Amino acid sequence: MSRQGEQAYRQIQQETPISSSARDTDYVQCVADHVIAALNDEDRVSAVWEVTVFDQDQANAFALPGGKIGVYNGLFDTAVNQGQLAAVIAHEVGHVLADHSNERASQSTIRNVGVAAAQILGASSTALQVLNSATQYGIFLPFNRTQESEADSIGVLLMARAGFDPASSITLWENMSVGAGPSPPELLSTHPSPSSRIEDLKTRLADATPLFQAARESGLSPDCSR
Ligand SMILES: [Zn+2]
Repeated sequence: MSRQGEQAYRQIQQETPISSSARDTDYVQCVADHVIAALNDEDRVSAVWEVTVFDQDQANAFALPGGKIGVYNGLFDTAVNQGQLAAVIAHEVGHVLADHSNERASQSTIRNVGVAAAQILGASSTALQVLNSATQYGIFLPFNRTQESEADSIGVLLMARAGFDPASSITLWENMSVGAGPSPPELLSTHPSPSSRIEDLKTRLADATPLFQAARESGLSPDCSR
């Protein structure tokens, strides 16, 4: 899966414009570095973590097996601060840690349904290219509801351990429910409604907040800005 993830990533890098903004790239790298540093040793060394910012006007991001992370610069309108960006990246990393792509790889019929659904829902041609690149390698994008919940659960703990306020995951989803258009990695998931997701995340704060406080007390205080 790691090899397939890397192949898909290289293809997406060739097909999708990459941001030329050092400011944006440094910002995303800063947040991702903090999130990755919060992984346990085994997870951290299990992948060659890499981040690319794509020049694409969609509120979205993805992470592929092997630790390949992509963030679209359209996300900055929705994830408006480092905590909210950390929530997105940690969620996507959560999918990788939980091996969700592997679970998906055998579901080839779902893949076809997903591409059709993306077309109906009006995903951009670049979005469809990304989708096709990923499906070609068996790394398909839709996650089911259980997987989304798992990624939320992992993500909120991970961001907290990195020293980002886990409450930012809630404001992120509030922003998402207002503004996000169709976009590939999350578009095709059978998402819980934003409101039930937010309720779910609120209950997870009981576990995440002490981790956040401990991280802050140990001196972890990320300072990433655009
Ligand atoms: Zn997800």
